[in-house]
Amino acid sequence: MSYIAPIVPDNSPFSPAQCAWLNGLLAGLIGADQAMLADAGTPILAAQPLPVPQAADPAPEQFPWHDPALPIDERMKLADGRPPERRMMAAMGQLDCGQCGYLCQTYAEAIARGEEKSLTRCVPGGKETARMLKELVAAPAAAETAAAATSPPRIEAASAPLAASAPLLARFEGALRLNREGSEKDTRHVVFRHEDLSLGYKVGDALGVHAANDPEIVAAIIERLAAPACCEVDCPDGTRRPLREALLEACDLGRPSDQAIEVLASRARDAGEADRLQALAEGYPGAEPANADLLDLLLAFPSAQPPIEELILALGRLEPRLYSIASSPKVHPGEVHLTVAAVRYAMRGRLRKGVASGFLAERAQHGCAISVFVKPAHGFDLPADPGVPIVMIGPGTGIAPFRAFLEDRRATGANGKNWLFFGDQRRELDFLYEQELEAFRADGLLTKLDLAFSRDQVEKIYVQHRMRERAAELYAWIQDGAHLYVCGDATRMARDVDAALAHIIAKQGGMGLSEARSHLAEFARCGRYQRDVY
Ligand code: NAP
Repeated sequence: MSYIAPIVPDNSPFSPAQCAWLNGLLAGLIGADQAMLADAGTPILAAQPLPVPQAADPAPEQFPWHDPALPIDERMKLADGRPPERRMMAAMGQLDCGQCGYLCQTYAEAIARGEEKSLTRCVPGGKETARMLKELVAAPAAAETAAAATSPPRIEAASAPLAASAPLLARFEGALRLNREGSEKDTRHVVFRHEDLSLGYKVGDALGVHAANDPEIVAAIIERLAAPACCEVDCPDGTRRPLREALLEACDLGRPSDQAIEVLASRARDAGEADRLQALAEGYPGAEPANADLLDLLLAFPSAQPPIEELILALGRLEPRLYSIASSPKVHPGEVHLTVAAVRYAMRGRLRKGVASGFLAERAQHGCAISVFVKPAHGFDLPADPGVPIVMIGPGTGIAPFRAFLEDRRATGANGKNWLFFGDQRRELDFLYEQELEAFRADGLLTKLDLAFSRDQVEKIYVQHRMRERAAELYAWIQDGAHLYVCGDATRMARDVDAALAHIIAKQGGMGLSEARSHLAEFARCGRYQRDVY
């Protein structure tokens, strides 16, 4: 296996991103003879030519830390020397999940511009992101000076709102359970209908869903605050509504903001409670109760009696949740399908539920109108060339975009080969979309389907184990120019699948692991390795 050496010297006056782009451009222009550059007797991996950018195109800025599988210290190292807004971006969870109301990049930019004051909005990043953001915000001047010498020109990114398309009211058709009776999981096939929806999305995109909080939690909060449910309050989203409606639709009750906790601390009559609340607000390590929602805090600190208006205004906005779309508009005109795992777990003696997944699985009524919007995918899409083979790795809810991909390739008559690695807990209970996938396999649309059911035997079997079993064939597909796609859990699955891919390329290509990693990085850069992970 060979790797084309950089052409632009290390001491050139270009940023790393510009160097990478120029190297790609020059390699393309020179038409580098791959046979000459290859180590003798070793195969060339990239059978597909890399896209050569137009000379007039500005070098696209690279975000090497934008990988949710990387730990925060590694992400911060990769952003070292970049401007504050880029280091703030590196501190985020890198999922672009939208729970903060932005994308990782735009949340960081809004903080850096001073427009966004809350540093605790990143749910996947949690406390370590909040702590890092506090550090970065505390030392902006020093950071700016240090970055100035080395950073690429600052890009004035728009603080893009999360809602990429205007929200519209879609009809909720239902949330059919995909697991059989007896499963430990509750994964739903959710269907929305709206005549405009099919026009507004393509496979790979996500759907933002505005869900409402659980009315039981809202009722318990109102009871604890001893407030009339109909009193009008100003909401974090700028609207004014009756208290009950505000708590249902406008406030983030799951993760009280630091400002809301400070309001509680300042209004606690008991000094001990005030101190503990203050420690929580400041993110003091070990401060309890950990991962508390608003109701937890109100119950744990009974002496805190804040004025309602003050508390509501200090809470964060209830943000929409994003789900990968599981349907092709070509096959289901007027509909959008999602694959949603209903999140349920017990904590401190109370059953907790995901805001949006609980809403869709349990409370949304057939035929009701729900506000949704399409969030276009940037870099998660089928190859433009319908003949290019694709390898899809999507256990659990990660199957969603691949169902859409397969439907789309069927509808367009794309002749590229399709290989799916799917897995879940038990074949009898958790084989999501079993009939559809088996039909796709039977009629040849799915060239290969490899299954990994983790709990059907004593030893866990995961998708990456199947990939390793098929290493030689997988490598042959990669040599044929296959595009690689991964969707699903970011922190464990996507990280382990990434490691498996690197090992497969290294072993099959007869090269070192770091060279294999460079290939994967290059595939990611040129769009041949795409991930939609959460
Ligand atoms: P999941 O339950 O996490 O896992 C699916 C399969 O992957 C199971 O067989 C699991 O095995 C296996 N697995 C566990 N660790 C793995 C690893 N390191 N490598 C490869 N496979 C591994 O999948 P899910 O149903 O998609 O849920 C994922 C999480 O994302 C859930 O917590 C869900 O709430 C959250 N989430 C879902 C959505 C959505 O519904 N669209 C959106 C955002 C977030 P074992 O469990 O047997 O170990």
